[in-house]
Amino acid sequence: MLVSVALPLPLFRNFTYEVDAAAAARARPGMRAVVPFRNRRQMGVIVGAAEPVATIKLKRVLELPDDEPVVSSGMLALCDWMASYYVVPLGVALRCVLPAALLSHSAPAPARLTRRVASLRRDLPSLLHRDRIFARAPQQRVVFELIESLGGRAPVEHLTERMSFSPSVLRGLIARGLITVDAEVVSRDPFAWRAVQEPAAHEPSDAQREAIEAIDGGRPGDVFLLHGVTGSGKTLVYIELLRRVVLEEGRTAIVLVPEIALTPQTVDRFRAVFGDRIAVLHSALSDGERHDEWLALRDGRKQIAVGARSAVFAPLRNLGAIVVDEEHESSYKQGESPRYHAREVAIVRARAEGAIVVLGSATPSLESWVNARTGKYALLTLPERVGLATLPKVEVIDRREPRAMRRQSPDAADWLRAVVSEPLELALSERLRAGEQSILLLNRRGYASFIQCGECGDVATCPNCSITLTYHRTPERLVCHYCQHAEAPRTVCPRCRGVLLRQRGLGTQQVERLLADRFPSARIARMDVDTTSGKWAHAEILDRVGRGEVDILLGTQMIAKGLDFPNVTLVGVIDADVGINLPDFRASERCFQLLSQVAGRAGRGPKGGRVLIQTRVPDHHAVRCAVAHDYFTFVRQELEGREAPAYPPLVRLANVVFSGTTEAGTEQLATAAASWLQTLLRKRPMDGVRVIGPAPCPVERIKNRWRWHLLIKSEHPSELTRLGRYFVERFPVPKSGELRVTFDRDPVALL
Ligand code: ADP
Ligand code: ZN
Repeated sequence: MLVSVALPLPLFRNFTYEVDAAAAARARPGMRAVVPFRNRRQMGVIVGAAEPVATIKLKRVLELPDDEPVVSSGMLALCDWMASYYVVPLGVALRCVLPAALLSHSAPAPARLTRRVASLRRDLPSLLHRDRIFARAPQQRVVFELIESLGGRAPVEHLTERMSFSPSVLRGLIARGLITVDAEVVSRDPFAWRAVQEPAAHEPSDAQREAIEAIDGGRPGDVFLLHGVTGSGKTLVYIELLRRVVLEEGRTAIVLVPEIALTPQTVDRFRAVFGDRIAVLHSALSDGERHDEWLALRDGRKQIAVGARSAVFAPLRNLGAIVVDEEHESSYKQGESPRYHAREVAIVRARAEGAIVVLGSATPSLESWVNARTGKYALLTLPERVGLATLPKVEVIDRREPRAMRRQSPDAADWLRAVVSEPLELALSERLRAGEQSILLLNRRGYASFIQCGECGDVATCPNCSITLTYHRTPERLVCHYCQHAEAPRTVCPRCRGVLLRQRGLGTQQVERLLADRFPSARIARMDVDTTSGKWAHAEILDRVGRGEVDILLGTQMIAKGLDFPNVTLVGVIDADVGINLPDFRASERCFQLLSQVAGRAGRGPKGGRVLIQTRVPDHHAVRCAVAHDYFTFVRQELEGREAPAYPPLVRLANVVFSGTTEAGTEQLATAAASWLQTLLRKRPMDGVRVIGPAPCPVERIKNRWRWHLLIKSEHPSELTRLGRYFVERFPVPKSGELRVTFDRDPVALL
């Protein structure tokens, strides 16, 4: 008997193997098979029977490790769809649906894991003695102060791998008794020690009841778009759906959230109702733990999977519903192959398995909005906040005034004023006096954006990526936020030898310091990637806010999502303009969503709330509509802007990115690809398909690789599939220069 086997490798074909007669009955589609491939043992998945091939002698399957298929026929079909739509080999799509532990032959790693953690000794050398202590060991000081800034503890792996410090620096610190390193058991399931709360027993509002009833009447495969303003109680609608599907009908469900670590409150609410029927799939799980949860879901011991995008592949049978919360979030799109969008996969899977989909958001993506308008999705609306809460009043603070910051030597008060306008400062001190909490958004981490020569204007950039280096204060370094390249801050301009290098712009660290100086008694928490290196750091900070131990929560866009703290009565946006001018067709949409989401954190309790947005572009439609809570006007204006030139959702798009180690080689490849495609389209015209470019990517270089791209626009999705597949399989990429081509369908960003 012959079987066709897909291997989890980037090869656009399956391979035929022979199976012994004795094992033939076990060689069904969806079973794993160990096969010889290029002189190695390779794990693959049987996808079907194969036709005999006359000429070559076939190799035999070495082993069939399973008694029943590990990939159901439904999931195989889903992989087929992904392979075709996103133009990837079937084996690469299969990697999404099987836990890593099942695709290697080694047994899954034990679920209990340890990691090494470096901690500062209690008796820290005071700042005065540090110059002496570290005089001969500046690297040790950098690491010491980094650990200090991370709260006195940091995983060794974070220091050596993410921050690239040499282990010998750590050894030096240990030898001098300044730090200790201990093994720590990583909790089996970090959600296990989060207390399960009492489920909230709210009577649904009229709007919630209407939405629940409409979803109840849905048919298999139906998609609902739940457009509910922030604080309108979308979670209750999801929970009622799951109650019916899981508890009453005995079926199963998936809940997707943008990022588990940022949404512990939402997860807690589901756990309060469904307890240990839930498997929380999060990135802190080891391969072994992930495998355990996977088995529990497949065997029906757990019926609900909650997780980020990859949870859409949970091996549940008898699926009744998929919820996609904050459906507009770009984190639902995977950044590497296969570049799938979990919202699209959810819809395809639900349709095939007869489940209902609910997409929820206060600011639906334009894609979903258009689908609701054309009747592909059913639109449900929660127009008001629940209970006594109303949407907060949003005020704009125009920052176009000439500022004191431009003076030659600004003093501390000028610096504060450059960051926090008078009305915002006043509002903050009022909240502090009243014992209420504030949230401040600055979507830029680090101490200052960049370092610029005061004489020639030259800006320090990364030697590997064409991106400005960000100044970090603890430890004092210039860091590239793309490749982690770090260097000591410069004192002299490398170009003109000018000395006047000053910092421009500002980041979260700088704002934290200014606030601490201005409000010495305030308890300030900062949340950005630098303070959340531990997997559970987010939840710890948010729990502190929830317990009322924080007066001001300052952070990047991380703090804009899903938080529900009734005592937060003020939200300030320090600079609404970050990102608004990026060369990307979604820049305005992202800015509008971020402002609306963060504004939605204010006034969720009876005390009401106020939002202050500082901006230098108060007339921009993204800012104006966010201020007015006016989603409809925003969508209308934004859709007009995407007509000419056409961008999604008015046209289908693929971003083809070329990269290589030389600039000329990369450009040549991109140019060759563009004319290859143009020639093809001349010979075989495709209705409504256009190729645009090539051009250098907005970020021209990342990690020492040059980048060019071209866009393929198409009015019909099927033409894009056909052309994409033909291109990816046939366009010849030279073996030299480490050239690479990636095909990104429905891209979320063009940077
Ligand atoms: P959204 O996700 O739409 O922003 P949430 O689902 O987080 O809103 O709900 C906001 C708050 O309102 C939560 O604290 C929730 O417990 C509460 N809530 C939800 N529904 C009701 C209701 N019908 N009556 C009173 N409070 C409610
Ligand atoms: Zn870099």
